[in-house]
Amino acid sequence: MPGPRDIGREFLVGHRAHDPRWLARRWRGVARRAGLEMRAFASAGEHELFVLRSRRPPAGARRVYLSAGVHGDEPAGALALAEWAAADPAALRGLDLLIFPCLNPWGLENNVRLDARGRDLNRMFQSRAAPFPAWRRELGRRRFDIAISLHEDYDARGVYIYELGGNGAERLLEAAAGSIAPDPRRKIDDSVARGGVIRRRVMDRETFPLSGLPESVWLYFERCGWALTVETPSEFSLFDRVNAHAAVLSEALCE
Ligand SMILES: [Zn+2]
Repeated sequence: MPGPRDIGREFLVGHRAHDPRWLARRWRGVARRAGLEMRAFASAGEHELFVLRSRRPPAGARRVYLSAGVHGDEPAGALALAEWAAADPAALRGLDLLIFPCLNPWGLENNVRLDARGRDLNRMFQSRAAPFPAWRRELGRRRFDIAISLHEDYDARGVYIYELGGNGAERLLEAAAGSIAPDPRRKIDDSVARGGVIRRRVMDRETFPLSGLPESVWLYFERCGWALTVETPSEFSLFDRVNAHAAVLSEALCE
């Protein structure tokens, strides 16, 4: 699996952090070399939304869901996912992947959290509004061994992870610490945090505090026993944030 040291600075030099068309081109190259099918599954204004999936995963391959770019002012996740995949496309052939590289291209282009209609997409994954029915169609009846959603946070003081159902966030944060240390706060977004990990052991739809479901929460309820949301601190160096996300991906997906 590609590691953080494999991520070059090309994306910085080209100033591509908010260019969804460049991102799509980058993924087309990865898809060719990694044997992934890539296609548009929905559109959002003038942008297309892309999905990538493994064409012929080996029998017993880990079933992996990856996504980034849900919030447009959080570019490190979308960059990291693409750069991590581009660093070693051959390694992706061993996984059964479903990847949504950027679910809010308008937001990424305009550097805003919300989409063109002013919606926070990460509070509506249960929604009947576009693009969510199309997104759920892409999932079909699939289940996943692990789901990872990449995000960023302006208030963060280090990397932190919301972990649902699993017990691996500490190991992932250790891997990311080569670039950025874990967020030391004891309370993050009204939740108790320990060493950068926010873990809710018991959670069901009835007691879930938000009115609309974030991506990882929907996946945890419906499709996946282990769902992670990784957050890097927006005010830190973009290079370090990209490498922190990439390190988490490498650690989570190489076993
Ligand atoms: Zn976010």
